[in-house]
Amino acid sequence: MAVKKVSVVTGGAGFVPSHICDQLIKRGHKVICLDNLITGKKANLAGLLKNKDFEFVRQDVSKPFKIAGRVDYMLHCASPASPVDYLNFPIETLLVGAHATHNTLEIARKKKAVFFLTSTSEVYGDPLEHPQKETYWGNVNPNGPRSVYDEAKRYAEAVTFAYQRTKKVDVRVARIFNTYGPRMNLRDGRVVPNLICQALRGEPLTVYGDGTQTRSFCYVDDEVEGLLRLLFTRVKGPVNIGNPDEFSILEFARIVNELAGKKSKIVFKPLPQDDPRQRKPDITLARTKLRWEPTIPLREGLKKTIEWFKANLD
Ligand code: UDP
Repeated sequence: MAVKKVSVVTGGAGFVPSHICDQLIKRGHKVICLDNLITGKKANLAGLLKNKDFEFVRQDVSKPFKIAGRVDYMLHCASPASPVDYLNFPIETLLVGAHATHNTLEIARKKKAVFFLTSTSEVYGDPLEHPQKETYWGNVNPNGPRSVYDEAKRYAEAVTFAYQRTKKVDVRVARIFNTYGPRMNLRDGRVVPNLICQALRGEPLTVYGDGTQTRSFCYVDDEVEGLLRLLFTRVKGPVNIGNPDEFSILEFARIVNELAGKKSKIVFKPLPQDDPRQRKPDITLARTKLRWEPTIPLREGLKKTIEWFKANLD
């Protein structure tokens, strides 16, 4: 029998990484999941905890740590990722982008593992190029409130490519755009959980600013398929993995309202500082190099997401 590949997933108890763990197990890997659970949840791993090929270790990966035995894939996904979470954990966010990326790159180097970084569309900041191609350098406020995440991920990309150039680590870098689906944290403050919870409870939907700012939402199954296609190719990236269908936040609120089947009113609240005006991935690279594109339209993905939220609301 073929020896199973070993994948280490940092932040594996988080929303997107927990789905990555599921898929790696389905594809026959052994998975070691490391998470300090400051924003991740063990409940996201409920389907895996009893699996003999899955191991959960409570570990702050910003501190030095070791992994015993072989590692084939080192996936560094750990980080608070919603604006509310990274504003609550600003220093932890900076450290996990800096120290933890360094720690996990060192493990990849020593074990001769493929290193995979989940970077973000936030590296583009409040983009002046639209849609965003991977070649765009971004427009980031280097010391504003969002900088703790944006600059941490920019540093993480920089150190990853430095390891690739100087230490010959085989790297892959994905830039994840807004992703939604089952297991999102109900209270992470993002627009998807906020609005779905509000709509299901019959409360007013909070739209920040005038709602003309845009986002492009990718259903988690599509997102994870794109990430794994990248992991298993030889494309270094960075590669945008996201859904290019763009919606204004006001349009998005109206769709959630309609699909949740209640008629909540929409209320307008102040726009957070440095909130990007627009965001939409150019996915030409993913289409051509990975033969990947999203297949699940927003309404379809939202219906599944709303069902999951209904079952998990309280
Ligand atoms: N937003 C909103 N209402 C909310 C939460 C967020 O209008 O209850 C807006 C937010 O200001 C931003 C967009 O929705 O323009 C997406 O925000 P989110 O926090 O989901 O993620 P971001 O894309 O900003 O990282």
